[in-house]
Amino acid sequence: MRKFDFIIIGGGPAGSVFAANLNPDYSACMIYSDMPKPCGGLLSEDAQDYFAKRNITLPKEILADLQISRVDTIDIEQNLSRVYKRTYLNIDRIRFDEWLRGFVPEKTVKIKGIATKITESSDGFSVTYFCNGINGTVCGKYIIGADGGNSIVRKTFFPEIKIRRYISIQQFFKVNPDVPGYACIFDEKSTECCAWIIKKGENMIFGGAFEPKDCRKNFEQLKLRIEAYGIHLGEPIKTEACMLTRPKYTGQIFSGNEKVFLLGEAAGFVSPSSFEGISRAMYSGEYAAKAFDSDNSQKTYKKSTAWLRFKIMLKLMKSPFMYRPLLRKAVMLSGITAVKK
Ligand SMILES: Cc1cc2nc3c(=O)[nH]c(=O)nc-3n(C[C@H](O)[C@H](O)[C@H](O)COP(=O)(O)OP(=O)(O)OC[C@H]3O[C@@H](n4cnc5c(N)ncnc54)[C@H](O)[C@@H]3O)c2cc1C
Repeated sequence: MRKFDFIIIGGGPAGSVFAANLNPDYSACMIYSDMPKPCGGLLSEDAQDYFAKRNITLPKEILADLQISRVDTIDIEQNLSRVYKRTYLNIDRIRFDEWLRGFVPEKTVKIKGIATKITESSDGFSVTYFCNGINGTVCGKYIIGADGGNSIVRKTFFPEIKIRRYISIQQFFKVNPDVPGYACIFDEKSTECCAWIIKKGENMIFGGAFEPKDCRKNFEQLKLRIEAYGIHLGEPIKTEACMLTRPKYTGQIFSGNEKVFLLGEAAGFVSPSSFEGISRAMYSGEYAAKAFDSDNSQKTYKKSTAWLRFKIMLKLMKSPFMYRPLLRKAVMLSGITAVKK
């Protein structure tokens, strides 16, 4: 059985950036599933800053066909709409993840499969994975949980540290020119979170985050309600769903212990207001890798991610103004920061 310094579980932004920044003296194995991650695929200013500061330019192949300059914000129940300026980069998430994985060094052993079980013994960890119809096992001194919102690493080692989760459902439709390029939709009859429409080339995504109970019913109800509002989506081409992490307070964000590290969405580094998580996944991946150059890596990692927690705290303070209907109404009616026609 092969033994590594690090077993990285997950090959999304957090796992890839961790592997790319790890000191080459260490050995690492990355177990990753290449199932497409349901995502809006919008790169925020923080994510753009991440690349700008490292002088990394994005190849045009990962950009989606429509770039975004505004968000149409619609409150269905209160019959309100406003336009706000936004400067996201609209990307193809599958190609983006593949491109980031291209930064992972050749010497990192990559296993395309699913980690199904992790056990700890006196001399480290053993991880069982399922790949091409067979089970295999690898061993490591450290476990890196970069496995997203439904993290097996978090559930195995830190089940007591709960985090608020929703089910996110997205459907793809053929693009309709009359539908906004990017819309954020609120409807408290269907969800306490929000929904979105994002155009991507010939398709448009309609997605939303829902409480687990009756999530599909509420998704379908919201589709009918936006249809009645005058937004016509048409027939769905494909449907996808996954868990979405949304910390309720910063105590739900957890970076792990001396041997088990949580990165990105597995740790809870996601904006509770916009669900933006790509920049936070990349920053936490890089900080965790660099922390292994210090004597107390978990302490260093925790310290270097303090500003990510602080930014999430600010987003928690902003959240009521987006998600409480009366406060949202007041903000939308005031026209503060809205684009005037
Ligand atoms: C519907 C939706 C829309 C979103 N829209 C945006 C957006 O527009 N912009 C933005 O910045 N953020 C967005 N987010 C959040 C963002 O997608 C995540 O925060 C970000 O992808 C986290 O990166 P990560 O590397 O931590 O985890 P992930 O990107 O989730 O990557 C984890 C990887 O690990 C793999 N994996 C999981 N379990 C295992 C296992 N047991 N074995 C092997 N592999 C495993 C998964 O398949 C996945 O590839 C959205 C989230 C959702 C759900």
